[in-house]
Parts: sequence; C-alpha cells; structure tokens
Amino acid sequence: MQKKETKKLFKSSWNYSEAPESISHIQIQKKYDLYIDGKFTKPVKGKYFDTINPANEEIISSVAEATIEDIDVAVKAARKAFTGWSKLSGKERGKYIFRIARLIQERAREFAVIESMDGGKPIRESRDIDIPLSANHFFYYAGWADKLEYAFPNKEPKPVGVVGQIIPWNFPLLMAAWKIAPALATGNTIILKPAETTPLTALKLAEVIQLSGLPKGVVNIVTGAGKTGADIVNHPGINKIAFTGSTEVGRYIAKAIAGTDKKVTLELGGKGANIIFEDAAIDQAVEGIINAIFFNQGHVCCAGSRLFVQESVADKVIQKLKDRMENLIVGDPLDKNTDIGAINSKKQLETIENYINIGLKEGGEIYQPDCKLPKKGNWCAPTLFLNVSQSHKIVQEEIFGPVLTIQTFRTINEVIEKANNTPYGLSAGVWTQNGAKIFHSTQKLAAGVVWANTFNKFDAASPFGGYKESGFGREGGLHGLKPYLKFE
Ligand code: NDP
Repeated sequence: MQKKETKKLFKSSWNYSEAPESISHIQIQKKYDLYIDGKFTKPVKGKYFDTINPANEEIISSVAEATIEDIDVAVKAARKAFTGWSKLSGKERGKYIFRIARLIQERAREFAVIESMDGGKPIRESRDIDIPLSANHFFYYAGWADKLEYAFPNKEPKPVGVVGQIIPWNFPLLMAAWKIAPALATGNTIILKPAETTPLTALKLAEVIQLSGLPKGVVNIVTGAGKTGADIVNHPGINKIAFTGSTEVGRYIAKAIAGTDKKVTLELGGKGANIIFEDAAIDQAVEGIINAIFFNQGHVCCAGSRLFVQESVADKVIQKLKDRMENLIVGDPLDKNTDIGAINSKKQLETIENYINIGLKEGGEIYQPDCKLPKKGNWCAPTLFLNVSQSHKIVQEEIFGPVLTIQTFRTINEVIEKANNTPYGLSAGVWTQNGAKIFHSTQKLAAGVVWANTFNKFDAASPFGGYKESGFGREGGLHGLKPYLKFE
C-alpha cells in the first residue's frame, strides 16, 4: 500500500473527542523548600529555580536549589537518624514503609496528574504505570524489612549507613520509589536528589513521608541541578551512592568515588535490541515495537530503540508499523487519549532533533506519521529510520527520544551478533512463537533484562540493571536489597 493511501485510510476512521484529566483536585505550592530532618527548610543560600510544564512552557512552581551547605545539614540529620532507624526492628520499619505505600495509593490521582504536568508523560502512563508501580515497590520492600536474615541466611546483614540517591527525569516518582524503598527496608537513612526538570512528585513524596510519621532525618529530599548531585557524591559523610542517569555522569561518579570506601550502584543508558523473528505473532509484535520505543516518548533507558526484523517478514512488519504509527496520538499529556506526550525539556528536544539530523546526513530513510504537533511546548513526532547499518551513529548512541532504527537479518547468529554489538547491555526483546528460540536467544543476548513476546514490563519483585556501559548493581527483587547491606 502506498504511503498516501495508508494515511487516508487511518486518518479518516480515528477521531477522538478530547478527554482531559481534571487538575482541580491537585495541590501544588508556589514554592518548595528542601525536605531535611523531617521538615521543609529554606536553602542556606536562599536560591530557587523554576520547574516548567514541558507541554505548555508555563512555570508550575519554584523549587529550592540545595548547595553544599544544605547537603552538610542533610547528611548530619541522616547520620543522627541512622542510630535509631538502623536499630528499629524490621517489623517496625516495615510498618512505616507500608504506610508510605498506602498514602501514595490514596493520593494516586494527584501524583499522576503532577507527574504528567512536570515531566510531559501521558496521563494514561503515569496513572496506570508510574504511580501504581511506585506504590507497589514500597509494598514489596515493606514485606522484606523483617525477613532480611531469611533473605541472606547466616550472613548477618547490616545497613551500610547514609545513602545518597540521585535520580533522572524520565520516571521521577518511580525512580524515587526504586531507591528509597529498599534503602528503608534495610535500615539505611537517605538523601535523595530528584532531577532538575522533574522535582515535584519527589516533593509530594516528601509530604507523604512527613505524614507517615517516619522518624525525622530518615529520608531527606534535596532539589537542585547537577552541582547538587556532585556535592552528594563527593560528601565524605555518605556511605553509598545509588545513581540512575546518563553513562557520562555515571563515569564521572565512578571516578569521583574511586579510592574511597563508598559503595556504588550505577543504572545508566541503553540501546536495547528488539528482535522480530519470522515466526512471531506479527500483530502483537508490532504493538510490542510501539510500546518498546514510544512508551514515555522513548525517554526510557531500556527502550527497544534498535529494531531487528527477519528479512522474510520485514516488508510486512514495517508496513504494519507505519500504519500503526499513523494513529498514534501526540499531544496534551493530560488528555486520556494521548499516546505520546511532550519531550521533557528543551535541551532534550534539541538532543533528539540533532540525532534526527545526523541520521538524515548519514543517509538514513526517515518516516514520520502525518501528525499535527502543538505549537507551544516541546514535541517530537514518532520517528523511524530505515536504511541504516551498525556503523550509523543513530544505531550506536542512546537518543532517549521517540526515534527507532530498523535493520533486517537472516539468521539467529547474525542477529545476536548485531544485537550485542553495542557498548550498552541493559535490555533486549525477542518475538517468536518458538520456545527453543526464546531460550537460545535470551541466553546469548548480553543484556540485564531480556523480554520474550513483550517489552517494558516491570515488577517490584524482578531485578533490573545492566552490563557494560549500562552500569552495575541491581534494583528490584531480593537482589535490590544487597547494595544497601554489608555482611560482616
Ligand atoms: P544526567 O545523567 O545528567 O542526570 C541524571 C541525574 O544526575 C539528575 O538528577 C542530574 O541532575 C544528576 N547529575 C547531573 N550531573 C551530575 C553530577 N556531575 N554529579 C552527580 N549528579 C549529577 O542526565 P540528563 O538529564 O542530563 O540527560 C542526558 C542524557 O542522559 C539523556 O539524553 C539520556 O541519553 C541519558 N539519560 C539516561 C537515563 C537512564 O535512565 N539511563 C535517565 C536520564 C538521562 P540534574 O537533572 O539536576 O542535572
């Protein structure tokens, strides 16, 4: 089918009425201070910065910028709180964590709307994925708090101390939950820094934590930019760093703590391979490709951003993929119909556009559906590139946006070699109806998580993390307890 005919067919039959989520029930303060020692505290230097809605460029709130003086105060509070918190029985710690989980559930709708306003992701995703998974993480680790000696029998697990946690902007509340829940369950105290562009749900979480009655100083939430993160990394009073973000900053952190006795886990970038074999259920696989790359605007470290399709079904898969892309709805993150929301920041949009230009210059064949992008805000149409090879920059580097590269293959050995030919090793996916092929390929793919006939599925009980330049250490599951414990 010709491109024009496809567009006509799909555009004519899909018209949705707007279905905006209400914002009347949410409460956002005009200004947020730092959450230190159980209360909201003004930053020592008195500096604040704006957090902006990427969908309409409006200022949502103003947020404190923590400097080294504030980090000092937070570390002292966390150190003081450690004595009592680490001695509290697991059963008692678990009760607080359960309470935080329940409070998130109670406020789920408010959290979801604020997440979408601050970060640009579709409300459907924040409502159905980010917020329930965040609550789930607290529930899950609350259950472990009084069972550590069964998780690590005969090893006498002890908390590592004060932990510094630095998180990115793509899953703001979920990443906070991934970091805070296991650290609390294991008896540590915390200083968490959300990303500069998405601080609001972490600050809402601070309100929930305050409401839960958690002893003061156990969780401290400090906002700021990269410098604040570096101040946490370099602070001598911190025993462990848990970081999720770019490989570049991950490298910097690894260097900064080399030679110190700080523990570290790094969850960094990715360039996941999504492999479609000729015997796959094609329609399901096409949905899987869409989910793998366009979920959260492609701002996903484990996104399936490199698609490999077996040559014999390539034409069929690519045509179905283009057809499906024609009816993706790009626009207002608060509209319940929206599939692809706003790009998180101007800076990230520039990065993505730069990669699209590089792809074109290197000879890639671009396809974008005929979608109308809003005039104000940061937007990028879902994009795929054909006619690319392993050596193309857009095939090798993490774009962190809704941009997919497509290559074909003939044999299983060929595709495994191509899939593994990347500096990253975070995620991969295989689509086939043949169980033996699943076992064979999932064992050969060098990635921390490999999905079979699905993609981007997360569960609190399942460990997540990378190999090679995607970092080290695992979050989630029993494995996620280990980095927060020492064994004497
Ligand atoms: P960063 O790695 O810069 O940000 C992640 C977190 O680290 C943020 O809280 C950030 O603060 C903080 N940070 C920044 N510099 C330092 C530092 N020197 N020391 C300690 N902490 C620091 O990611 P970006 O937001 O800049 O995104 C850049 C690229 O990184 C993206 O295009 C994408 O490719 C990749 N990325 C990957 C993620 C993943 O999950 N794998 C997540 C986010 C980005 P602040 O935000 O305030 O600068």
